[in-house]
Amino acid sequence: MILTAPKAPSPSAAPLGLTDPFGRHVTYLRVSVTDRCDLRCVYCMAEDMTFLPKSEVLSLEELDRLCGTFIDLGVRKLRLTGGEPLVRKNVMSLVRSLGARLGSGGLEELTLTTNGTQLTKFADGLARAGVRRINVSLDTLDAAAFKAATRWGELDKVLDGIFAAKAAGLHVKINAVALRGVNEDEFDRMLAWCGEHGFDLCLIETMPLGEISEDRTDQFLPLSLVRARLKQRWTLNDSDHTTGGPARYYDVAETGTRLGFITPMTHNFCESCNRVRLTCTGTLYMCLGQEDAADLRAPLRDAELGEDGLRAVIAEAITRKPKGHDFIIDRRRPAPALARHMSVTGG
Ligand code: SAM
Ligand code: SF4
Repeated sequence: MILTAPKAPSPSAAPLGLTDPFGRHVTYLRVSVTDRCDLRCVYCMAEDMTFLPKSEVLSLEELDRLCGTFIDLGVRKLRLTGGEPLVRKNVMSLVRSLGARLGSGGLEELTLTTNGTQLTKFADGLARAGVRRINVSLDTLDAAAFKAATRWGELDKVLDGIFAAKAAGLHVKINAVALRGVNEDEFDRMLAWCGEHGFDLCLIETMPLGEISEDRTDQFLPLSLVRARLKQRWTLNDSDHTTGGPARYYDVAETGTRLGFITPMTHNFCESCNRVRLTCTGTLYMCLGQEDAADLRAPLRDAELGEDGLRAVIAEAITRKPKGHDFIIDRRRPAPALARHMSVTGG
């Protein structure tokens, strides 16, 4: 990681909105509230992961304050992720506090990406806090394949969680990483299942983030291939739905639900990128696929700098948002493109 120490900005330099040098407005913040997780998905983590010492992790109050500063600077959509966000102790206090900023508090949407294992416990609370939509990661509907993909997971527990979320009134989008030889024959079934229950489905290409003790070139399945296969059976109409992110969406005529494809490897989505990522240690990544980052923990804890100073540090970091990423998965380059795991920045 290339961590640039904050300059000493003049408070008056803090602007009201966050716009990068390419004219993109940063209105979307993804926050990884913990790097820990109760699963060990093969494309995401090694089984014997070493997690951050708790002393390096921001408290929930600090995360809350930092998110508040971003909202004051024009962030309108906030997604909590991880690691597994729902395994962080007391995470609901943060969700409730951020939920209170929805509407007149400046925030338009509060969402969550979760593996679903804790949803039976938390779905109602999330809905009460103002969360309307969640993404649940589920790569397969086959219990044995699920166990193999997550190493530790129980499919039934996650399915119970998904239906608890639905019952709580949350709109559910299922995210599935496309993995050669694991779920490549299952997408028809998953799309039908999602259609039956009213869930959107988003398929994701594996990205080369972090050492995972397996060969990523074996896992990689280009979504262009998957889309061509699905188009033989389903009517996929171009959708103008967009989140400003990497997903390209289709309306599925047979189900009335949406199907998205996130193709970082085969299609460059950076021109319209509206997002930045904050880790649980207070490191701000301006791009998922680049090393450059800004430390916000020190300015956050610097009482002398104050709120205006913190805003100025954030604004300066945004001026360093790169034009795009350059991921590549290649047998000649066995090392990951980036050393950090997806569980650090939260995907
Ligand atoms: N634990 C939560 C979950 O699984 O939804 C949130 C964090 S997880 C890192 C966020 C998303 O990143 C998940 O949908 C996961 O499948 C995806 N992901 C993890 N590692 C990935 C990789 N190397 N390439 C592509 N997607 C990845
Ligand atoms: Fe955990 Fe999510 Fe990574 Fe799976 S993808 S190991 S659930 S953080």
